[in-house]
Amino acid sequence: MLMNIPDIIIAVDGFSSTGKSSFAKMVAKEFSFLYLDSGAMYRGVTLFSMESGWIDAGGKIDEPSLKAALPALDLHFEADGLHMGERCIEKEIRTLEVSSHVSPVSAIPFVRSWVDERLHAFSEGGRVIMDGRDIGTTVFPNAELKIFMVADEMVRAQRRYDEMVAKGESPKLEDVLNNLKERDYIDSHRETSPLRKADDAYVMDNTHMSFHEELVWVLGVIQGKFGILEAPSLKW
Ligand code: C5P
Repeated sequence: MLMNIPDIIIAVDGFSSTGKSSFAKMVAKEFSFLYLDSGAMYRGVTLFSMESGWIDAGGKIDEPSLKAALPALDLHFEADGLHMGERCIEKEIRTLEVSSHVSPVSAIPFVRSWVDERLHAFSEGGRVIMDGRDIGTTVFPNAELKIFMVADEMVRAQRRYDEMVAKGESPKLEDVLNNLKERDYIDSHRETSPLRKADDAYVMDNTHMSFHEELVWVLGVIQGKFGILEAPSLKW
């Protein structure tokens, strides 16, 4: 028997590689929520800019060209992940090269409003769990449940490194760590919607937590917050 969770929006924010997507996907599966990965959208815009030749070797972005092309860009989610038009770009958007350009691209205000608009359209109807950097502060400031995830920096770098190696890439741990630090810095210091914990967010430090422990943690929060008394039976 599934616990009776109301149709709510759950916002999951936090630093890079704190396991937000894995956590959000697990919760979505367990409680039949729609999962939306806002970072994938920023990565998609970044890949689009790179392939269009609008990010030069020094990292400078041709903003006027990007701004002119954005209205016609078709980024949407299908069962296998993010698509640009017909093409699944889920693998390409996770490379270190895209990771190294995504934070400057996502700091551009017109990029943020374009992504926000789409996230709202995708979420119509509620019962959504979305992860990112500004979901609980900007995209859905009225989300019924907000979670802010943190974890030790070295643990985060190692997790991201293992993930990339499992996908057949061969990054250096040091490069992965530096990319995390750099993205965290840019994401928390940008002018538009910087990464920060919403005042009403619950903090989860998952440095030493298993997926099952994360699920038990979020269930406790949901039961307490929404006054649910029934005993849950977890699939995990
Ligand atoms: O979550 P992920 O690491 O895939 O996000 C990639 C990048 O996209 C982040 O480092 C950040 O620069 C940007 N981002 C953002 N706002 C969000 C989600 C992601 O600025 N809501």
